[in-house]
Amino acid sequence: MKRIICNICGKKFKAFDEQGELGLHTRLGYGSVHDGDKLNLDICLHCLDNVIIHLCKISPIEEE
Ligand SMILES: [Zn+2]
Repeated sequence: MKRIICNICGKKFKAFDEQGELGLHTRLGYGSVHDGDKLNLDICLHCLDNVIIHLCKISPIEEE
């Protein structure tokens, strides 16, 4: 099986990252400089935590 590589840190996904199936896979629309291109963004749990903590003004987390 091909290992997924995190687009942000460049590290290979660990098993638990793969279980989470984290990523953004879509075609970009108007408003993006990559308009019309396909986005295949894979993000490991470590980088996702950084995004949530450092980049999100509003937390995307809903605590159970
Ligand atoms: Zn990463």
